[in-house]
Amino acid sequence: MSGTFSAGDLRRMLSRLRDVMAGVGAVQGRLDKVVALIAQDLRADVCSCYVMRAGEVLELFATFGLSQKAVHLTRLRVGEGLVGEIAAHARPLALADAWSHPQFVYRPETGEDFFRSLMGVPMIQAGRVIGVLVVQTRDERPFNDWEVETLETVAMVIAELMAATQVVKREELFQSEGNALLHVRLAGASLHPGVGIGVAVMHKPHVRIGRLVSDDPVTEQYRLHTALKTLREEFNTLIEGGDLEAYGDILEVYRMFADDRGWINRISEVISSGLTAEAAVQKVHDDTRVRMSQVSDPVLRERLQDLDDLANRLLSILSGGGMRSELPDNAILVCRSIGPTELLDYDRKKLKGLIMEEGSPTMHAAVVAKALDIPVLAQVSGALTRIDTLDLIVLDANAGQVILRPSEEIIELYTAAMEARSKQKATYAAIKNQPAVTKDGEKVSLHINAGFLLDMQGLADTNADGIGLYRTEMPFLAMPTLPDVKAQYAIYKQVIDGAKGKPVTFRTLDVGGDKIAASSFMGPEDNPAMGWRSIRLTLDRPALMKQQLRAMIKATEGETLRVMFPMIASVSEFDAARSIFNLQMERHIRDGGRPPKNIQVGTMLEVPSLLWQMDALCKRADFVSIGTNDLMQFMYASDRGNTRLANRYDTLSPAVLRMIQMVVGKCRAAGIEVSVCGEMAGKPLDALALIALGCRSLSMASSAIGPVRATIRSAKLSDIEPFVVNLINTDTSSLRERLRSFALDRGIVAG
Ligand code: PEP
Ligand code: MG
Repeated sequence: MSGTFSAGDLRRMLSRLRDVMAGVGAVQGRLDKVVALIAQDLRADVCSCYVMRAGEVLELFATFGLSQKAVHLTRLRVGEGLVGEIAAHARPLALADAWSHPQFVYRPETGEDFFRSLMGVPMIQAGRVIGVLVVQTRDERPFNDWEVETLETVAMVIAELMAATQVVKREELFQSEGNALLHVRLAGASLHPGVGIGVAVMHKPHVRIGRLVSDDPVTEQYRLHTALKTLREEFNTLIEGGDLEAYGDILEVYRMFADDRGWINRISEVISSGLTAEAAVQKVHDDTRVRMSQVSDPVLRERLQDLDDLANRLLSILSGGGMRSELPDNAILVCRSIGPTELLDYDRKKLKGLIMEEGSPTMHAAVVAKALDIPVLAQVSGALTRIDTLDLIVLDANAGQVILRPSEEIIELYTAAMEARSKQKATYAAIKNQPAVTKDGEKVSLHINAGFLLDMQGLADTNADGIGLYRTEMPFLAMPTLPDVKAQYAIYKQVIDGAKGKPVTFRTLDVGGDKIAASSFMGPEDNPAMGWRSIRLTLDRPALMKQQLRAMIKATEGETLRVMFPMIASVSEFDAARSIFNLQMERHIRDGGRPPKNIQVGTMLEVPSLLWQMDALCKRADFVSIGTNDLMQFMYASDRGNTRLANRYDTLSPAVLRMIQMVVGKCRAAGIEVSVCGEMAGKPLDALALIALGCRSLSMASSAIGPVRATIRSAKLSDIEPFVVNLINTDTSSLRERLRSFALDRGIVAG
């Protein structure tokens, strides 16, 4: 295969394949021609087609290049050898040296002694793996992404043609011994990673309403009010109940809904017109649903799910049914969508995963599932129709797939992987009380990024040094209206109390861009990431910023207050924001409030224009926190949310690292604290480079603390510093591979 293979060549090859497959003659003859054609067109020495037979066995069905004696003789179980591995994970493999892969198994009958490199892809039809297509070459050579994609396209076409032309009988393609269905794979979007193995439980939220009409409105009003009382009590129990404190902010919103006079009055009015309490709740809910479904703002539309949850809960109370559902020991919940309190009704010890046909990352159930640390897969089309109650399921949210009715081999594979993962977790837990100090004694402080009260648990779990970034926009996202000073104070106070004296850096509202649709405040923008967002919006609407700062000041009376402003593009914006802060502080004191014992006002560095204002900035700010997520997007003019660009520019490029070196140097010279709080800080290799460039404070997702701590403890600063500093002045596009080998050579644990 060579890089000169073009899109036109691919089209021509596919058309020839179609002709061969649709032609007349024995099935075997046609498949033989197909593999020969692929090998020839892709300039490979071997092309083989393995087909899934009864009993989860992959049979060599046709080959060009391997011994013909092996055809129909060589058989590999799913999960066995490289071919079995490709089928088990439904993922391609491209190996320059296949022999050195731990999964490689040698089959002498095939005569594959001569072939070093291997590229294989799964053949998938109707969501199931029906075979594997493999090419091999004599020489040891790497395959590039385009080559893998080409083979995937070819495999897709062959799979469709095989099913259509019945090269293998359809029943056999889809059935295995004992008449049980072969495993099925369904793809989805991961909302929280992890793997769960268990049996399917279908979540049925709908409550059937028995009676619709009543001629006794007084009794119905009484029933409604009693049910509302129970509803509030349920929320109080959820909010106050032990570790569920973590969902305080979401449940608080629910409690507010349950107290909403407008909503209750509307239900009462409908009862007065002659409906039962439950029919009235349903009617008001249906009306709200219709109105909300016309709203184009996706964030507001998402709140529909919360309203469904609330209405279902009230209906269930009215109809006398309990919400708690019994679960088998290892349950994987399957639903169209789910509300956070519905999810909390299940016994979390038994809940091993959540699969939804709908759902999105910002939905509240995802937030709760994340706190429960159960894997979640959303947008799994066909989940409700193809999964049956008590079906055995492997939910692999790391690879974005559900495997239905998996074979023993697949379960073994996953169980082994899960064991390895929990061993790794245990290693991190074992060092959680050890400082993040390099072997030569250099201390790095590690902080977590947080945004919900439930993230506070991460602080205790990881024993991090504090919260380096508290994203205050999250409650704004959760509430139907903007939270007032009192509501914000309640949240910030819980954060400060929860941090138990460890420093917390609050960031003022960063709405707009990829966060809350700025349309909550204004109309849609052409270019929201570079639009009226963040500090731009709050400086133009200072009431928002004033309220927020007042709440923060009050919440930190007698404590340390660290506040920073996002998206500062010029020092004048910092000055303006700081003077608003100073005025709020004066007002707080005037009103008889106690001051915080210590005040630090800093800035995020996310906009490149600030790089040339560092001297002025360092004179004004108490600290600088580098937000590499936005800074990268603006430096490289590369949308941070665009998956096509995800790996195009590297944070370990000399350009980024030289920039960081400069910023760290300026801050240190001015004697002000500097830290990094973008995703980069939480990646072990990147963290190494940051330390080498002088960063001594990193803030990251709490899940990254363990790995980064392990990396730092295994490294020697006097080794990595000269290595990185030398490399950032070279012309390479990224230091990543060099740094990886360096870490490997020196026994540095780097992910
Ligand atoms: C950043 O931009 O790097 C950052 C930490 O802020 P956010 O991801 O919230 O935009
Ligand atoms: Mg940012």
